[in-house]
Amino acid sequence: MRAAVLAGYGQPLEVKAVATPVAGPGQLLVRLAACGICHSDVHIWKGEVQPPHAPSPFILGHEGVGTVEAVGDGVEGWDLGDMAGVPWLHDTCMHCDECLDGQESFCQHQRAHGLNVPGGFAEYVVADAHFAVRLPDGIDPVTTAPVMCAGVTAYGAIRRADLKAGERLAVFGCGGLGLYAVQIAARMGVEVVAIDRDPAKLDHARRYGAREAERADAGLVERLAGHSDKVHAAINFAPTTATWDAMIACIRPRGRIVAAALVAEPVPLSQEWLTGTGVTITGTSVGTRKEMAEVVALHASRPLLNPIEVIGLERASEALEQLEGGHAQGRYVISFSR
Ligand SMILES: [Zn+2]
Ligand SMILES: [Zn+2]
Repeated sequence: MRAAVLAGYGQPLEVKAVATPVAGPGQLLVRLAACGICHSDVHIWKGEVQPPHAPSPFILGHEGVGTVEAVGDGVEGWDLGDMAGVPWLHDTCMHCDECLDGQESFCQHQRAHGLNVPGGFAEYVVADAHFAVRLPDGIDPVTTAPVMCAGVTAYGAIRRADLKAGERLAVFGCGGLGLYAVQIAARMGVEVVAIDRDPAKLDHARRYGAREAERADAGLVERLAGHSDKVHAAINFAPTTATWDAMIACIRPRGRIVAAALVAEPVPLSQEWLTGTGVTITGTSVGTRKEMAEVVALHASRPLLNPIEVIGLERASEALEQLEGGHAQGRYVISFSR
């Protein structure tokens, strides 16, 4: 099969022929039609996130969509030709408290596609039958691929924010994840305030259902602090600490702040402010299998949109560079039909 292989951190991926994997017991072999490229792939490509044991071959990608080509021993409920998604979670331990509580995305023993096991920048990928995503026949692979990570992460963040219809939500960062969050929240009857530095992204956010849009400029914190209608929840999808003061400025007492972007640097947090407001601060990582089923159902009933650039496998490296430089205007999706 053709695959884009990571030969060295930060180096261009090598597109070459490698052995087609085989589905072992409990596994599916999925022939991919499309695979999205996520910002986490950039972190892994650069070596900022490194697995304890690198998979061989080391193939990135955790937003795969394709059809089941082979079914391993002991698999029930999957047939050849079924449409399947291959998401971030390859498997989890199934017996820690998080797994037993149905919160397996917080399992500390999880294995991820494109990090711990080979991922979807390849024509074929092996998935665990319990973690592969059931997709309706005929669903469009290209627009569905980013839902496998960006979409479920946005949905999981909204669930963590515990939003109800009529409440107000501030979405910080209107790239792929933020734009999904805008649409999902708007469909739930939540009033969305979209915040980004880029006016083009704010235009998309308005088109996708945001009630208000705020430019993240030097005056943002002051404008939010002076706004009479504070938000019930704020979700940060922007990979920066710069949004922190603005989240503090716009959140109402007993509001919920959800960290969805991976930001390693600490932020200033006043315990006095926390005791006085009762604000809840939490984090989120992709989503559970139940949340995945829910976001797929939402997407199947009416597609969740995002600006998508379709590329061939040979342009995967170029896309990683564009994402790293912050130049991408939306999501990149590798199509294997080209
Ligand atoms: Zn991802
Ligand atoms: Zn676990």
